[in-house]
Amino acid sequence: MRVPLLDLVAQYHTIRPDIQKAVQEVFESQQFILGPSVTKLEEEIAAHCQVRHAIGVASGSDALLLALMALGVGPGDEVITSPYTFFATAGSIARLQAKPVFVDIDPKTYNIDPSLIEGKITPRTKAIIPVHLYGQCAEMDPILEIAERRHIPIVEDAAQSIGATYKGRQAGSMGAFGCLSFFPSKNLGGAGDGGMILTQDGHFAEKIKILRVHGSQPKYYHQVIGCNSRLDSLQAVVLSVKLRHLEGWSQKRRENAEFYNKHLGSLDKVVVPHVESHNKSIYNQYVIRVSQRDQLLNYLKEKGIGTEIYYPVPLHLQACFKYLGHSEGDFPESERAARETIALPIYPELTMDQKIYVVDQIKRLLLS
Ligand SMILES: *Cc1c(COP(=O)(O)O)cnc(C)c1O
Repeated sequence: MRVPLLDLVAQYHTIRPDIQKAVQEVFESQQFILGPSVTKLEEEIAAHCQVRHAIGVASGSDALLLALMALGVGPGDEVITSPYTFFATAGSIARLQAKPVFVDIDPKTYNIDPSLIEGKITPRTKAIIPVHLYGQCAEMDPILEIAERRHIPIVEDAAQSIGATYKGRQAGSMGAFGCLSFFPSKNLGGAGDGGMILTQDGHFAEKIKILRVHGSQPKYYHQVIGCNSRLDSLQAVVLSVKLRHLEGWSQKRRENAEFYNKHLGSLDKVVVPHVESHNKSIYNQYVIRVSQRDQLLNYLKEKGIGTEIYYPVPLHLQACFKYLGHSEGDFPESERAARETIALPIYPELTMDQKIYVVDQIKRLLLS
């Protein structure tokens, strides 16, 4: 049996006629950038994520970059975030010549540890970026409390967590900005790159709309320097079709997670994901912790089971961030997570036979 980490072909087969029709309409219109289909998707996503404004951009990475630009982050500023995340989170900070200031994670949820944030705030702190990793929201109430008291805006990196909730509130709806990614492997994935910025603030929304078209307003008049970061119409129509299925897909992921939890949770050597009772996870990834991680990785590969390590090197130890002066031991929980975690297939189209096979193979190695 073969169980890939993600099977987008299986998903495509369930929605093929709708996707093909939508794509065909874009070709007939020959309207490829922004336009009515992007506006329609922006309205749909805003409603889905319970925000007033959603602005389509070229990627999740650009969403983070433009949100920080809208907040005026620049050289010499500091932005607090987690070192245990996809590169783009810290990359967006560094690209504006600001300094990523890392705060270690809570080992249970792998999200930023709110109790460590305040100690890292300085007069130069211009934003805090909590990452909602693997589909579960960071512990937002204490983060929002600090941000409000210290007058520091929050940019939520919700790239992995569209539709996840924290105490009933949608991921990406709680900070000054929320950033979504439509990279194909996210729960709502496009047919290429795409992203969106969420905000409750009309003034911020206007700013982002100007920044995504080179700061042009009106056309060919530039008060500010922006960039080219527009969402394609083709992406928008594909995403509109897929958005109708998103809740169902995320529910299937939760059911798959329950199955794994039930069958792997009792193993001494495995720590299954911990989801706080006030959170609803969308399980963009199902990540377990095992001390024999590399052995398990190789074993599952031999057995035809796809896995991945998210992420093998925490950002403070990346070569490009050497100038920040960090060394091993600075963020011990992030480093330990990088050594001990492995993602298992959790995609909605997994069959019962595939799930049983995954569980059996893991047991075969770990119980031997
Ligand atoms: C995917 C991802 C991004 C970047 O999104 P892209 O659309 O690939 O640019 C940013 N942050 C996190 C946590 C992500 O998982």
